[in-house]
Amino acid sequence: MSSDYDLGSMPGFIYQWGHDQALTHDRCFLCGADLTRGRTDEHVFPQWLLRRFDLWNEKITLLNGTLMPYAQMRIPCCSSCNNEHLSRIEQAVGDAFAEGPDAVAALDATTLFLWMGKIYYGLMFRELSLLVDRRDAQAGTIMTPEFLASFKTHHLLMQAARGVVRWQPDQHPASIFVFRTQEPTHPRGRFDYVDIINFPFFAVRAGATAVVAVLQDWGALAEAVTVPGLEAAKQLDLHPQQFRETAALAAYMTTLFNRVPKHLMHAAEDHVGILTLPIAGLSAKPVFDPFDLSHYAQVLSFVTGRPLEELYDGRNIVTLLRDGTTDFCGVMSLRDDDV
Ligand SMILES: [Zn+2]
Repeated sequence: MSSDYDLGSMPGFIYQWGHDQALTHDRCFLCGADLTRGRTDEHVFPQWLLRRFDLWNEKITLLNGTLMPYAQMRIPCCSSCNNEHLSRIEQAVGDAFAEGPDAVAALDATTLFLWMGKIYYGLMFRELSLLVDRRDAQAGTIMTPEFLASFKTHHLLMQAARGVVRWQPDQHPASIFVFRTQEPTHPRGRFDYVDIINFPFFAVRAGATAVVAVLQDWGALAEAVTVPGLEAAKQLDLHPQQFRETAALAAYMTTLFNRVPKHLMHAAEDHVGILTLPIAGLSAKPVFDPFDLSHYAQVLSFVTGRPLEELYDGRNIVTLLRDGTTDFCGVMSLRDDDV
């Protein structure tokens, strides 16, 4: 969509492309409303999660290497987005996680997509206000407004939280996988997440449930390809290390997705409708590039924190996931204290 084609000037358009995505901290991160006369703070990681897994004083490592408590991971939000739209989602997702993987898998796919998508986007938005070097304001912020603006389609899709964007009933923006996980006894060991900053991907493990989401492939990973490692993971109660490997595998597949989905948008009275054209388009080429073991090994090393040479010898890769024919589980021992 070209920038001189101003959707905002069209009557009936409830979302103004290029305008409603806030790139500063004085507007609501979701709807773009001006917050100079009152703001609320939306927790990037919801409060129920921080309580349940004892994360209030835990810290996460940001892109500039500094540590920030989860409790301070908050982003500006207007009262209606925070207390109506997003709190409705948190209520549903928090209840489902309390019940376990079956309840999470039974959630409405859009609810789960919006929940994962908000955390992913919120992490980036929070870093907009943080300096790369805290002693040098001239060096700029960790996250640049330009980079965040490149996630404008993701931002548009998140408007579904407010009901002002809808996609076709038989289409969905994401591939979402729900897994059963083992639960270490210590609360802090029962939570983990994986994100990659330049691809719309997010994975979280909380209690007995893990969710892995490719946020903008319009179902390609779930429907257009079979990945033996992901199939194997569905059969397991994932150990924390197996969760990391599963996340690494899905994250790597995200980088192989080679289509840019095309959308038609139409203005209805109270929402923008999105119709996504067939992902493969007119090309017979597979929608995922060929799997390259050496590239995957690098992603696996990055996500698991294990040295590359421990994982890959140039021919074979270490896996903790059975593929159904070969038992790889003996390669590395799984111990609870490895968490
Ligand atoms: Zn808002």
